[in-house]
Amino acid sequence: CGIVGYIGHREAYPIIIKGLHRLEYRGYDSAGIALYDGEQINLSKTPGKVSDLENQSQVEISRSGTLGIGHTRWATHGEPNQRNAHPHFSNSGDLVIIHNGIIENYESIKTELTKRGYSFHSDTDTEVLVNLIEEVKKKEGVKLGKAVQIALNQVVGAFAIAVFDRSKPDEIVVAKLGSPLAIGIGEDEFFIASDATPFIEFTNNAVYLEDGEMAVVRPGKEIKLRKIADDAVA
Ligand code: GLU
Repeated sequence: CGIVGYIGHREAYPIIIKGLHRLEYRGYDSAGIALYDGEQINLSKTPGKVSDLENQSQVEISRSGTLGIGHTRWATHGEPNQRNAHPHFSNSGDLVIIHNGIIENYESIKTELTKRGYSFHSDTDTEVLVNLIEEVKKKEGVKLGKAVQIALNQVVGAFAIAVFDRSKPDEIVVAKLGSPLAIGIGEDEFFIASDATPFIEFTNNAVYLEDGEMAVVRPGKEIKLRKIADDAVA
């Protein structure tokens, strides 16, 4: 029920873990984190508390990297277990996503993607979304931001999402409908969170996405909010 992300020049791990602690009041059953270390994405997730995630990740992954996303989950589709905890990878292993909310029409999308050869390793609606984004990206030959936009025009539901691509690790794409999402703007760095508490100590400069908005968050580039529906694809 909470999301935190960081892209910039600091170590992302402590910012994300601390941020997840600050969002604990929102309630949750599992927690997870994905960090890009310059080469690969290191993932750690677990049912239970953020402190459980801390204990586990400290032995499980390297924890280095200046790009990362973290999540606390309030299960809607699939029981609260390790497999269903976020972040979720796409089939290629390149895209990784965190999501608060519900994708109502995930079953029909899942059926369609299964026909096209996709496999699923969790029971979540979220894993369907990240694979839909991957499929759109490949099929249309578009950048991640565009792929997210096209994919979100095909889903019914509620979401705050953050997604990044291992093969293009200079940006995080975020979008919001129904669940809250804020972007904290620093110097050559951005913070993403469900509310401002995870980044308040780093910056006072924040934008809150409106429902139906998305943004490509890239250090060195200004934030431009776009309407998801502006690019509606039939
Ligand atoms: N629907 C997603 C799931 O069940 C996200 C739940 C949430 O908002 O944390 O995994």
